Formats: sequence, structure tokens, C-alpha cells
Amino acid sequence: MTNRKVATKQTARRSKKDNKESRAPDHESMASILERISDAFVAFDAQMNYIYVNERGGELLGRKPEDLIGKNYWKEYPEAKDTPFADAYVRALETQTPIQFENYYAPWDRWFENRIYPSKDGLAIFFTEITERKRAEIQLHASEERLERIVETIPDGIMIVDREGAISYANSSAERILGLTRATITERSYNDPKWKIASVDGGPFPDEDLPFSRVMTSSQAVYGVEHAIVYPDGRRIILSINATPMYDAQSELAGMIASVTDITEHKRAEETIEASERRLSLIFDTVSDVIFLLSVEPEDCYRFASVNPTFLAVTGLKPERVIGKRIEEVLPETARALVISKYKQAILENKTVRWEEVSAYPTGTLYGEVAVTPAWDAAGVCTHLIGSVHDITEIRRAEEEIRKLNQELEQRVAERTAQLQTANKDLESFSYSVSHDLRAPLRAISGFAEIIARRHRASLNEEGQHYFDNIVQASERMGHLIDDLLNYSRIGRGAVRRGTISLRDVLAHLVKDFAARLKDIGGVLEIANDLPTVIGDKTLLNQVFTNLLENALTYRKPDTPSRISITSQTENKAVIIRVSDNGIGIPTEYHEKIFNIFQRLHSEDDYPGTGIGLATVKKSVELLGGDVWVESEVGRGSNFFIHLTKE
Ligand code: ADP
Repeated sequence: MTNRKVATKQTARRSKKDNKESRAPDHESMASILERISDAFVAFDAQMNYIYVNERGGELLGRKPEDLIGKNYWKEYPEAKDTPFADAYVRALETQTPIQFENYYAPWDRWFENRIYPSKDGLAIFFTEITERKRAEIQLHASEERLERIVETIPDGIMIVDREGAISYANSSAERILGLTRATITERSYNDPKWKIASVDGGPFPDEDLPFSRVMTSSQAVYGVEHAIVYPDGRRIILSINATPMYDAQSELAGMIASVTDITEHKRAEETIEASERRLSLIFDTVSDVIFLLSVEPEDCYRFASVNPTFLAVTGLKPERVIGKRIEEVLPETARALVISKYKQAILENKTVRWEEVSAYPTGTLYGEVAVTPAWDAAGVCTHLIGSVHDITEIRRAEEEIRKLNQELEQRVAERTAQLQTANKDLESFSYSVSHDLRAPLRAISGFAEIIARRHRASLNEEGQHYFDNIVQASERMGHLIDDLLNYSRIGRGAVRRGTISLRDVLAHLVKDFAARLKDIGGVLEIANDLPTVIGDKTLLNQVFTNLLENALTYRKPDTPSRISITSQTENKAVIIRVSDNGIGIPTEYHEKIFNIFQRLHSEDDYPGTGIGLATVKKSVELLGGDVWVESEVGRGSNFFIHLTKE
């Protein structure tokens, strides 16, 4: 410094010759020193006239030193006015204090460092250009700032741990993730017990497995180290850490930089998905239905991506014969066309398609209810088909069995019916001929009994008369029985003449027949006016109503006048005729039995009859394709219903 100060008082080497001034030898050497130093150097007098400029000064100022000597600074560089440099020169002169500073010189777009030493005679200035360094510094600063901004904005927590294991830096995301302020974080070491570090499953986490220990021992980066810590609010959170070694200027390992993410939610979601996948695969493995996954490839190529154990059990195929194979290689030829068309339909219509399939497999013929559903990727491409087959082989086999049994049964019923019909016919002709043949001897008995009655009754004693009357009564009764039987077996022997018959006409006739009897017993018979015309046979219908009216009159209550009514009800083609009475009624358990032949509920003494009347009614109605039944309660009258077809 002292030398430099001295130099300011010296005149420039070149001007020495011009001015022809005498020089002390130390001035010479001073000047030569100034020429040799790497700094630029200028000296001004008090009026800011150049009195010395060294080589380097000339270079930086872009002028030859000899051109500047004697010139005035303000005149040579008017643009310098008000620049920090000019201001500093003025200030240094005024205050007579040295000034050292770096600044930007706008007129030249360059940076300089100036050391200004004032004296009463002027200024001595050492200066160097620092543009390069300054620009590098600015760039460095800008890049540091950028970096800092990035580090502060990225969602990952960034932390620097020094070689002693102390956390020396934490970004704002680290604050958020760890729930602590930077100040608190940087008070802790990487393995501070306050972190409460544990493994993901809750067990201890060895210190040597922590990222810091691993980076420091291996000098290698580590990725995705996962462990748990306890958040200040007591929650357990799981961190994933990447860490890389950090070196100092001497290339010595100085610590590590770690980036930390909170993967608690991610882990939880992963666990949920895993659990659900475990459950799904359990279902996949254990359901009794066949489940398969097909990958959908271009040009109608469908490949088995996976199948469940039931698929293999049902088909009897080995996994290697199925997985990765096209369906053509697995499914029986007969099923392919249908199956492919269904797959296409499912994809085209984006819906579950179902159908029934019959396939021959090594295990036998299988009937299955198949369903396929398309599965789409995020881009809307159908990548897979999920299929299931519900085995209905047993049901179909059982159905087939039932169908066969039914057929057999029908066949047997038909055979039996035919046999029964023959037997019935035989029986009918038998009873017909028997009753017919019985008539002649009975007639003989009646004839002779009449003669005895006429000629010899008086000669019989009382007992003889009594027995004789019994014979007469019994033969009369037998006569009725034979008549009824003959009548019964005659029904249907002749052809049934089906025609349209007016029920009103049929009943009008009967009213006449019954008029006298009704009068005798003081009974009433009411016949509805709207009785329809039906499909039937006049003789048969006559039989039916005669028998029903007979019974209604016979089975009356002894102390109540008879009321009989005949009404009808029509529904579409059906006619239901009702014959009601207010008689003694019929116990429920006999409602069906009374239609059997010879079925009677009373003794001959109480109510005379043969037990053939209702059998005759039933047979007649059935021959007309109809039906007859009774509704009755003991003591509350009876309702007989006849179902016939309307004209
Ligand atoms: P029966 O010659 O005895 O009248 P049916 O076959 O006509 O023979 O009747 C069978 C039995 O049904 C009768 O014995 C009688 O007990 C009962 N029955 C028939 N119709 C009536 C009726 N309207 N009221 C009460 N009981 C009846």
C-alpha cells in the first residue's frame, strides 16, 4: 500500500521524457513496479487530470496511456458523471479517505473493483476488471435462488444431515410432513428418540438400516427406505426416504441429502387393495361356479388369462392346456361359434350377456349357464372378458329324468285306462244281462204272489200273512232295484246324442211329473226363468234332474215344508246349474261317496231307495263332458252343482 501511495505522487514513465524532468532513481523503479503489477493503475491530480496510467490501465480503459496523460477525466469520460465510480472519486478527494468498492460501470456494461487512495495532490487508483467473476457470481446466485425456490416448493420434504448426524436443513415440505417447525427439526439428530422410529409393521427399526447410517457407510445413495415415526399429534405415519451422499470442497463425505415422503395413506390404500384382492382370490379359488378371465386381442382372438380351480375340476383340463391358449384350443368345436358371437355382443353392447351352453368335456356332457362381462381399460378399450359358468347339469339331468318318467307314466295310465274301460264295459254288460235275466224269474214270483194274494190270502193265519206280505214287498223292491240297475247300465250303451238342449224345456216337463207329489207334501219347486241352452242329451239330462228332484223330495225334513229351487250361472262357455233344497243335508265326509253306486246313508225303513240315483247322475253328467258335486251341511239343506258346456 505504501508503495502504491508513493506511486501516486510519481509522474508517468512516458511523460518523464516529454517533460524533461529530472527523476530520482527510486521513482524509476517505482514506475517499473507499477508496470509489472497485474492491477490497472491510474493517478490523477487534484483536478482529475491524468498524471499516470500504467499499461494494464491503458488496456482496461481502451486507450494508450500516453494519450491520456495530461487529459482531464471529466472531459475524456463525460459519461462517467454520476456513476458510482465518479462519485467515489469525488468523495475520496473531498473526504481524503481511501475507498475500496466493487461496482457495475453501466456505460461499458462491465464490473470493476476500485481501490481509491486520495491525497491533497490527487488520487491514486488501483482497479481490476471483475466482470467475469461478477457474472459468474450473479449466475451462481440466480441458480441458487432457483434451487432454493424448487426445494421450497416441491412436495417432498428435503433435509440435510451433516456428517455428525445432525439435521442442518429442512424445507417447508419437511415441516408439513413431520409436523414440526424447521427450528425444531434442526435441533434433532437423524435418530433422535423423539422421532420414535419403528418399522412399518410396528417392530423395532435398527439404526444401521436408517438411510443416514447406510449412506455414510456405503457412500451410496439409498432409495425407498420405509419406516414409521410418530407425528406430534400421536398419529403413526409411514415415511419413504431417498438419500444421497453429500461431499465437501475437499471431496470428503460431509453428510447426506434426504428426500422424505409421507406414504401413510398410500400404504393404507395398498393394504386395503391387498386385503380386497386376497378376499377376491379366495372367492375365485373356492366358489363352486366356474370363473375365467379372457384377454381380448384383435381379430376375435380370446385367450384364457386365468381360470379358477373349479374350471379345471369341471373340465378335467390341466392348467397348461388352458392358460395362454386361445379359446379354439380349449373349447369343444361345437360351442365355439356361439361363444364368440356372445363375446362380441358383450363387448359391442357393453353389458353382461348370458346364455345356456351344452359342452362335451372329458368329464362328460355339461350344461352351464354362462355369463360374460366386458372389462375396460382407462383408454376405453375392452381388454378382458370376465366369465362365469353355473353348472346346471344336475338340474337338466333331473328334468330329463322327470320328462322320461312322465312319458312312461302317461303311457302306463293310458294302458291302465284302456284296461279299466274294457273291464268296465264287461262289468256293465254283465250287470245288464244279469239284471235282464233276473227280471223273468222275478216276474214269475210277482205273478204267483198275486194269484196267492187273490185266492188264498184269507186262508193263511196271521203269521203266514205277515211272511207273505214280506215276500210281496221284497219282490217289489227287487223289481225297483233291477229297473234302476238296468237303467244305470243302459246309460252310455246307446250313442250319446249331443245337441243343443233347452234346460227350460227339460224342466218344464219334469214340473208336470212332480206336480202331484209336491202338492201331496205341500212343497214348492222354483225354477229360474233364465236357464240357458246347453250342449247335451235330452234323455241323460232328464235322468239327471229326475234323480236330483227325487232326492230333494225324499230327503226332506219331516216337519218342514220342502223348498226346492233350480238356478244357473253362466261364465264364458261354462254353465253351472244349482239344485238346492232345505232338506236334512249330507255330512261332509259323504260328499264324494254318495256318488258311488249303492252308497246310501239311511235305512230302507227311514228313506226308501236303491243307492243308484246319484251314480246315474254322475255317469250321465260325465258322459256329457261335465262335472257334478255337492255342498251341504247336516240339517241345513243341500246344493247340487252341475257343470255343463253352454251352447
Ligand atoms: P238313493 O236311492 O238312496 O236315494 P242316491 O244315489 O240317489 O240313492 O243317493 C245316495 C244317498 O245320498 C242317499 O241315500 C241319501 O242318503 C243321500 N242323498 C242324496 N240326495 C240327497 C239330498 N238331496 N238330501 C240329503 N241326502 C241326500
